[in-house]
Amino acid sequence: MHFVALAAIALLALTGTVLTTQVDRSDRLREERMVEAGFSQRIDEIAAAVVPQVDWDDAVVHVGNRFDPAWIDRNLATYLHALNGVTGVFVLDGEERVTYAAGNGKRTAPDAFTPYAASVRAQLPAIRAAEAARPRFAPRASGIVAEPIQSRTITYAAGRLDVVVVSLVQPDFGTALPRRTPAPVVVTVVPFDDVAVARFAARYELDDVHLSPRAIVERGWAQAPLRDQSGRPIAWLVWRDRAPGQSLMFRLLTPLLCLLTVLGMISDMFYRRSAAIASDLIASEARARHLAYHDTLTQLPNRAMMFERLRRALSSARRRGTMLAVHCLDLDRFKEINDALGHQAGDELIGKVADILGRLCRDTDTVARLGGDEFVVIQPDTTAVGSAQLADRILQALRRPIALDFGPVEISVSIGTTLVGEGEIDPNEVLRQADLALHDAKEKGRDRITFFEPEMDAAMKMRRELEVELRKALQDQALEMVYQPQSDQRGTITGLESLVRWPHPRRGLVPPAMFVPLAEESGLIYDLGEFVFRRVFEETRGWQKKVAINVSALQLRSPEFMSMLSRLVAEFRVDPARYEIEITETALLGDDGVTRGNIDLLKQQGFTIALDDFGTGYSSLSTLQRFKVDKIKIDRSFVRNLEVDAEADALVDAIVHLGQALDLKVIAEGVETENQRARLVSCGCTIFQGYLISRPIAMRDAALIAA
Ligand code: C2E
Ligand code: MG
Ligand code: MG
Repeated sequence: MHFVALAAIALLALTGTVLTTQVDRSDRLREERMVEAGFSQRIDEIAAAVVPQVDWDDAVVHVGNRFDPAWIDRNLATYLHALNGVTGVFVLDGEERVTYAAGNGKRTAPDAFTPYAASVRAQLPAIRAAEAARPRFAPRASGIVAEPIQSRTITYAAGRLDVVVVSLVQPDFGTALPRRTPAPVVVTVVPFDDVAVARFAARYELDDVHLSPRAIVERGWAQAPLRDQSGRPIAWLVWRDRAPGQSLMFRLLTPLLCLLTVLGMISDMFYRRSAAIASDLIASEARARHLAYHDTLTQLPNRAMMFERLRRALSSARRRGTMLAVHCLDLDRFKEINDALGHQAGDELIGKVADILGRLCRDTDTVARLGGDEFVVIQPDTTAVGSAQLADRILQALRRPIALDFGPVEISVSIGTTLVGEGEIDPNEVLRQADLALHDAKEKGRDRITFFEPEMDAAMKMRRELEVELRKALQDQALEMVYQPQSDQRGTITGLESLVRWPHPRRGLVPPAMFVPLAEESGLIYDLGEFVFRRVFEETRGWQKKVAINVSALQLRSPEFMSMLSRLVAEFRVDPARYEIEITETALLGDDGVTRGNIDLLKQQGFTIALDDFGTGYSSLSTLQRFKVDKIKIDRSFVRNLEVDAEADALVDAIVHLGQALDLKVIAEGVETENQRARLVSCGCTIFQGYLISRPIAMRDAALIAA
């Protein structure tokens, strides 16, 4: 914009200059021609002024036929000097001898003629030729008998310009005729002096007019050549070039400059404004592009950018015949920490992990965050050993506690790695392989690295099949419930835990450990949960003993959970006080409004709450109190350890005392031996569940002991 405005002004100025120059040039040429013509007209006038005195019968008598100097004094020298400014008068006879000379009206010596001699002699042949060719004297229409025969020229010497006119003495009305030929000639000299120049200048309105022996090629001056009889310029009349275009331009310049300044300011303003807008646009575009390709929390490349880099890395690896590793990372305990410490701590943790990954990777590697606690590392130019080393470095680094504002936290990471060699492969496929390997790493217990192997595809395929089949099984209500009794020290049945089973036509009895996580991942958990409540209520309606029902943390997080449950309570007219909801510690960690609201409502309706797998999670005393848990179930792993680990006694003892202190019931799960039971009793635990008492049994058998 700025440039355009400047260019426009420059163009305008250029056009103006070119135009004025052109106008001025043509004006000057015209003026020069006019002055030249004016000068020759002036010479004509000078010449014409002599005619009445020389083309005169008296002159024929007194100058030619009879030489009469006194007459010449009066009628030529004095008269012409006084009236026509003629300064020199000379008479030359037929033999071209100077017979008379006068200067400024007074007779002088004949050598006054010398300065003009050459130029006069140059003119005489023409005069004589005209005289010889003159027709006979006879009156013309005007009454005179002869046309004037004259020649004129200019001389220039010592800065003095003279108009020299040579006139043949002739009769006018023929009252006297020349007796001899050739007749005398009269030479008159009129100086073109300063006065004449000034008069000429006034007549043509010229400034600073002066004579110059040479042409002046300087700017600002105009000139007209003054030519002698042969047409040769012998002097120049020079004057100041008016340059009307230029003076017009100068007169216009002030307002024009003002206008241009205003225009310039306006265009400058526009330019600045649009430049600001443009730079804003560029900046916001860059910001948008950055946002589009970067994760806002860590500033790491996001999924889109990661795919872009992966695509490039793949094609470069293919070109150069190198290998490329892609690592998919998932933080093992991120969710728990996020839930327990809040999103701010979660964000801080993600930021720290991003920093750690950045430090562990080379500049040529790409660390990207796909969202949540998922990261991807693209490692170009590597080998199987190199990729394993990097994955291991990451694994080790994330095993160490990470310092947050809140304090140090321990996470760990599961890594799925795939190594891509030669051959065309789609970036999506690469990521899928790494993801599959990650899945395997998590399934195998987290905090480990799994390399992708083609067999994993088969496992994945099976998972997908299983998911489809589970969906179908739920639709067909093809799942079943079994019940595992719980008893006190004396063997009295205190309650039963309902456990879901999937009798699969081909795979046999699929255990819940296999399909409950699958249901959680695929969203089928809500249907599964509803199925369990419906089936348990239906089957246990008339039972006297308390029945425990397992609920997944995901179910509790659902706002629809309670309405579903209330509907079923009403439908089967069951008493909530006879049911116990088993939740895991992770459900409580969420401490999100929905979970807390659901637990409050469960309690309000009369359900009791048992904390399942107690000791494996992170619940603190305060969470136990806050959620008004009624019972804790000591996890199987502690019970099993009672026989192998001496310290396990102390731990179980502590849990039991904690429960007693908080006025909670305490039950031990997975009690398989008498020894375990004896030890539990010695720790103060009085209720047991496990194969020692009974394996989970079918509904019909359970009904017999529960009634
Ligand atoms: P859980 O709630 O801790 O259930 C106890 C598990 O321990 C049951 O496994 C049971 O069969 C097993 N068990 C009981 N006594 C012994 C013993 O003495 N020794 C050993 N080794 N194991 C024993 P199951 O039925 O395979 O269930 C596994 C898990 O699946 C359950 O753990 C529970 O978390 C989940 N689950 C089962 N049924 C349901 C359900 O209806 N809904 C939901 N959401 N989860 C369920
Ligand atoms: Mg349970
Ligand atoms: Mg359990």
